[in-house]
Order: sequence, then structure tokens, then C-alpha cells
Amino acid sequence: MTQNFKSGRLRGRLAPSPTGALHLGNARTFMIAWLSVRSRSGTLLLRMEDLDHPKNKPGAADAALADLRWLGLDWDEGPDIGGPYAPYTQTQRRIHYVRALETLRARGLAYPCVCSRRDVECGQSAPHTEDGLFYAGLCRDRFADYEAARRVLPPDRLPAWRFRVPQGEIVRFEDGFCGLCEQEVSAVSGDFVLARDPDGAGYMLAVVVDDAAMGVTEVVRGDDLLPATPRQLLLYRALDLTPPVFIHVPLVVSEEGRRLAKRHGDTRISALRAAGITSEQVIGLLAWWCGWAAWGERLTLRDLLPRFDLATLRREPAMLTPQVKAAMKIQA
Ligand code: GLU
Repeated sequence: MTQNFKSGRLRGRLAPSPTGALHLGNARTFMIAWLSVRSRSGTLLLRMEDLDHPKNKPGAADAALADLRWLGLDWDEGPDIGGPYAPYTQTQRRIHYVRALETLRARGLAYPCVCSRRDVECGQSAPHTEDGLFYAGLCRDRFADYEAARRVLPPDRLPAWRFRVPQGEIVRFEDGFCGLCEQEVSAVSGDFVLARDPDGAGYMLAVVVDDAAMGVTEVVRGDDLLPATPRQLLLYRALDLTPPVFIHVPLVVSEEGRRLAKRHGDTRISALRAAGITSEQVIGLLAWWCGWAAWGERLTLRDLLPRFDLATLRREPAMLTPQVKAAMKIQA
């Protein structure tokens, strides 16, 4: 760790959600994040993003750590080893999200909303974003305070908090892989949800608060999150925080170009391991997908370190072809 601090302040993170098992797709993204930090002697932390209760699977958090370690990934700080920014598990960090929400409220940037998901769906006129619904701002200037909003709801429902998105502003940023990106957030997602209830926090707020609190300077993640980044940048600004460099990398997709799903075969790392595939074979495949290895090469992450270069990372999504399935003994 001393060495890492000496060599500069690069801090990256792995942020698994325990909503399912680690599979070839998210393993590839984590591998790229790991290589990016380790190739420059940065510090890597692991944060467990377990806020999405209904989707969390029992045992998935521990299993994800075990799968990552089996592949050869390591981290300097995390829920299993602690560190200067503990706790590293989001459900134990609620106080940070509540404080950030208070700041946004005090600045007039958050307002209570009583719209249900169905209300929002019915209000759709334009096609909505890939990762959420467009909100037309029905509750924007509707309630004097949270209590006033609460009074119009039945006792079993609580108002949510939404972020007041600046109207008409184009948010621009330079992605470390995708280049210049821009989005008019008020036209794409509108005022997005910060928290579903007064003590809760949604992904968008939590990820910003945590990355900033943990001193993260580089975020490498799947490009499915590219459309969410302008929203996160608005939150960084609203909270006077410094954003990290964002690097969005292509996902692994099925032959039809779809996001990996169960029907495409069992690509879980644990299933490959059970089928007798070695971690060197898996790393070899992930590296081949990136354009950094020949087909069939067996590699450790250490072997791969000198080959890491974002400039040569293949731009096309990695594909789960029959050739890949046969090599990895993936059952349909
Ligand atoms: N925990 C999120 C996921 O697994 C990643 C969030 C992020 O990288 O910002 O999809």
C-alpha cells in the first residue's frame, strides 16, 4: 500500500452487486478494471453494492468475492479486509446517503414525489431511457415539504425524493474509452429518483457518494451505465464533489447481440470451474475478447499485465459464440 500511495493517487474500484452470480460478462469488466489500476500501481478497493434488496441473492456477495479471487483478482480494501474508508458494504453506509440527501434538500435540489411507477409509466410520451423511465416532473413544485407529500398517500406508501435536474443543460464529459459523450438529462431521464423513502438511497446517489467518499479517481464499468453517467455528474456538481475519470467498456453479448441471460447458457464462473475449466483458461478467453491474447492461450492476470492497453481494447462487444461455448464447456 505504501508503494501505491508513493506512485500517485490512482484509486480504482470493483463494485459488484450481489444480485446474481459472477459470469463471464461481469468478470471481463472487473478484469479490465483490475488491470487498469494494477498496471499503474494504483490502489484498488472492492465495494459491495447491496442496496437493491429485492434482487439480492443470499450468499451471492461471498460467492462473488470467492469467484473474483479464483480468477486471481485482488484488492487492497474491501468488506473482507477492511481499510481506511470502511465500511465497504453499501447497506452499512446509509448515514452517508442520508447526509447527502439532506445537503441536496437544503440546496433546494431535491423534492418529494408521490408518483407511483405506474403513474410515471402512464405519463410516458417519448420512448424512455434504456435504464429507467422518463419523469415529466409532475411533483416538481407540488408540495411545501415532505410531510405535505406524505399526507396525500395511504399510510403504507412513502414519498420518494427526486433530483431537480437543470432544464435544457447538456452535460458533457470525456470518457476514457468512448471519448466525448453528452446528454441533455432533462430530456432523457428528467428528474430522477434519489431515494425511494426518507432513509433509503437509490443506486445513483449511493454510487456518487461512495466513490467520492472513498477517493475513487477512476471508474471502469460496463457501457450499459454510460447513459447514467451524466446524471451522476450532476450529482457530483450539486454536492461539490470531484468526479472520477469514467471508462465505459463494451459488454459481453450473445450471438444476437443481446445482453447475456440465462437462456444463452450457464456462463457463471462457478459453473465453468465445476466443469473443470481452469482460471488460466477463463483469463485467456477474457483477454482474447479484449484483443490481448491469441485464441486458446492460457494466462494468469500477472501474464496479462504488460499487455494491458485501453487503446488496443477491442471496440466491438465481446460475443458468446458457439466456439466460445464449446471451449468453456458451456451448456445451453
Ligand atoms: N454495482 C453496479 C453493478 O453491478 C455497478 C455500479 C457502477 O459500476 O457504478 O451493476
